[in-house]
Amino acid sequence: MAPRVRFAPSPTGYLHVGGARTALFNWLYAHRHGGTFVLRIEDTDVERSSQDMVTGILDGMRWLGLTWDEGPEIGGRHAPYFQSERLERYRAAADRLLKDGHAYFCYCTSDRLRDERERAEARGEAWQYDRACLSLSADRTRELDAAGAPKAIRFKVPASGAAFDDAVHGPIAFDGASIEDFVILRSDLYPTYHLSVVVDDTDMGITDVIRGDDHISNTPKHVLLFQALGASVPRFAHVPLILGADKKRLSKRHGATSVMEYQRQGYLAPAVVNFLALLGWSPGDERGLMTTQELIDSFALKRISAGNPVFHTEKLDWMNGQYIVRMPIEDLAAAARPFFSDAGLGAHPLVAEPRAFHRLLELLRPRAKRLTEFVEQARPLLTEDVSYEQEAVDKHLASPDLAGHITALVETLSAATPFDEAQVEAAVRGTASARGLKAGALIHATRVAVTGRTQSPGLFEVLTWLGPERTRARPR
Ligand code: GLU
Repeated sequence: MAPRVRFAPSPTGYLHVGGARTALFNWLYAHRHGGTFVLRIEDTDVERSSQDMVTGILDGMRWLGLTWDEGPEIGGRHAPYFQSERLERYRAAADRLLKDGHAYFCYCTSDRLRDERERAEARGEAWQYDRACLSLSADRTRELDAAGAPKAIRFKVPASGAAFDDAVHGPIAFDGASIEDFVILRSDLYPTYHLSVVVDDTDMGITDVIRGDDHISNTPKHVLLFQALGASVPRFAHVPLILGADKKRLSKRHGATSVMEYQRQGYLAPAVVNFLALLGWSPGDERGLMTTQELIDSFALKRISAGNPVFHTEKLDWMNGQYIVRMPIEDLAAAARPFFSDAGLGAHPLVAEPRAFHRLLELLRPRAKRLTEFVEQARPLLTEDVSYEQEAVDKHLASPDLAGHITALVETLSAATPFDEAQVEAAVRGTASARGLKAGALIHATRVAVTGRTQSPGLFEVLTWLGPERTRARPR
């Protein structure tokens, strides 16, 4: 049977790196096995969910190319795909569990529950629900109902507990005593996550649940619910959480966590996909750079490592640089152009004209790790208003003799014909030796004088690009 998997984000935040990787693993698994990838929005927490976040999540998924087969905007056989539109389903399931004796009403107030918990904590003990309402008499129940007391529905956890065989972590078992009788429907008739996720996974025919391993402790509750509802229990694969370089759970402290922030910072979607796929999964060989098709062809849950992967930004930068160097120039131009437009350089003739723009990108791409760097590096090549990095000036233009050296170079350059890389190089090297300088020193100084910075494409390429007039006008 072809698998049906789902990504089920709660729209209480943007699509973050961890969520994107979970979505990607689901997507790869579905594509590997000719299955279906469902996107379901878990928005039962009305106060914390927002339409903006839903839009942000969909944008992030689309940017990465993680298209869904059923879900928001496209619908599908099991619509709706927003939990807020499925509340009746959860209420019906809770009723059924009540009728079948798998659940019971709980009238305990949150004050009572809090007091009990605090008392237990003061004794240094963990507290779990004491089943106070499991054996309420019919009279007492009638009394409470007559008084309009709010009531939740709790699941009656069987003593046998629950076990499952996790595709990543192996067999996992929880005994019944360690699982409390958890709430499935709150007194306001909203479901808890446990109930809604199980009802939906059942309704939507989900065969494999691939999600973050922060959910492992929830899974026994879900297994019990599937069983009590007479549904088949899906296979589970709990994916280890991503850590920052300091081995702490990845968070904003480590830099960007929202996927769309990576787009803004100039990363390419296929590079991010490649990088995320290798966070905790490996094809079983040494391959690092893999196309999306190669990822699909080699994806297997059993190759997900049970240890926590570490997010190394340098590796992502390296990978992005590799994609930049290798991608067809037309694709690179399409990806880079918006960054030039945002920087107010979109109408510059050397950007607007495709052949010139390609030439500019070819000049810059061997060094670029991110698309934003193209703009930074291109600015001194495109406009005359060069801004000088103070550090670069201090380091390379401080020597009082330099003005003379550079004037000499400009003179030699005016005789360079044709004004190509070979002639420019000969002029620079000739000037350096004539003035008793190391070529490197003159190259560094000229680079700063011309571009304002210590990093640029090769100086001879830069001067050739600028041409004789602009080169001559440049050094200050
Ligand atoms: N809405 C849950 C979350 O965002 C989904 C967990 C699951 O995949 O079951 O964590």
